[in-house]
Amino acid sequence: MNFNNIEFDTYFKNYPDADGFFGKYGGSYVSPELKKAMEEITEAYFTICKSRRFINELRRIRKEFQGRPTPISYLERLSGSIGNVQLYVKREDLNHTGAHKLNHCMGEALLAKYMGKKKVIAETGAGQHGVALATAAAYFGLECDIYMGSVDIKKQAPNVARMKILGANVVEVTEGLATLKEAVDAAFAAYCKEYKDAIYCIGSVLGPHPFPMMVRDFQSVVGIEAREQFIEMTGELPDALVACVGGGSNAMGIFSGFLNDPVDIYGVEPLGRGPKLGDHAASLKYGTEGIMHGFNSIMLKDENGEPAPVYSVASGLDYPSSGPEHAFLHDLGRVKYDVVDDEETIDAFFKLSRMEGIIPAIESSHAVAYAMKLAKEMGKGSILINLSGRGDKDMDYIIERYGIR
Ligand SMILES: *Cc1c(COP(=O)(O)O)cnc(C)c1O
Repeated sequence: MNFNNIEFDTYFKNYPDADGFFGKYGGSYVSPELKKAMEEITEAYFTICKSRRFINELRRIRKEFQGRPTPISYLERLSGSIGNVQLYVKREDLNHTGAHKLNHCMGEALLAKYMGKKKVIAETGAGQHGVALATAAAYFGLECDIYMGSVDIKKQAPNVARMKILGANVVEVTEGLATLKEAVDAAFAAYCKEYKDAIYCIGSVLGPHPFPMMVRDFQSVVGIEAREQFIEMTGELPDALVACVGGGSNAMGIFSGFLNDPVDIYGVEPLGRGPKLGDHAASLKYGTEGIMHGFNSIMLKDENGEPAPVYSVASGLDYPSSGPEHAFLHDLGRVKYDVVDDEETIDAFFKLSRMEGIIPAIESSHAVAYAMKLAKEMGKGSILINLSGRGDKDMDYIIERYGIR
């Protein structure tokens, strides 16, 4: 398929280019020392990850450990309550650990093992990435250092407990506001010292090359499975595809399976409390081009051009930028990026729980909320939603803040 002069038949061969660019977005804007480490990972990725041995091992792990393929479920009652559009969900909530993040963490940790590294390093905010990586490290017998701000450590006690039970070392970061940004800085600094024995594992399609490409490729299993399953279930492709976008890994995973198909694709960002800067995290909708955390993308900036403070009811979506490939697909118009606010999200959270018996993560509820609106507009056809994770982690918070609806 040709779209805006981009040939999607050969898209994955051409994007990113050899320097990690998706058009003008992406790249690797890091210190010379880190650049060397990134080049080592890139080279290993292209030799090891394309080898038959690596691919077979990853396939076995996905089946025997993660429980893949995850199914697609038809949402009969929710669809019926809206009209004639058929809604379906790809069940990443049923992936081991309850979300899609393990798909790329198992790939990154397997790469670490093949490269002869002894340790994996990462930062975490809400703790979801930390738990997924700690799980992968336990599976492969790797050491695992997770950097986390002291404020987040207090807020996310259950995930801190999970990481510790899995054998990870949770490193408390007390600098500055002691949240995600400081944790990223501390983890990068540690990695600069330890890169001979360790590998940094980024939690989404973010950061310097090769991470946006590598994480996308590891997540593409979601799109490959979903396309095959959907055609088997219905005999055709969905008319529309919807996923929530924080950094953008679950979205790139499912989108990658359908970019070359006549399917309308929607990425959903959190509008939070509203469109005022600081009240949302809708970087692609309201942001401008800029460089942060080692890559060029579209980001939300404060008056000094620094990453702006962001807010979302979903802690997995409150990042002031998105992966460079999303910025590229946004400018091309191949994917439409739109928003839903906190209220619409909470409404969708309860509707999916009550009508289908699936309690979604608040992040994933953004995609469900958008699909419900889109279904009303479309009037007929089918929508496939990526249900990126389960909502067990969010239940206490939702009951405390919103009560039972
Ligand atoms: C972390 C997380 C997200 C957001 O990350 P992406 O990289 O944008 O996919 C979405 N859903 C769930 C369940 C998460 O844990």
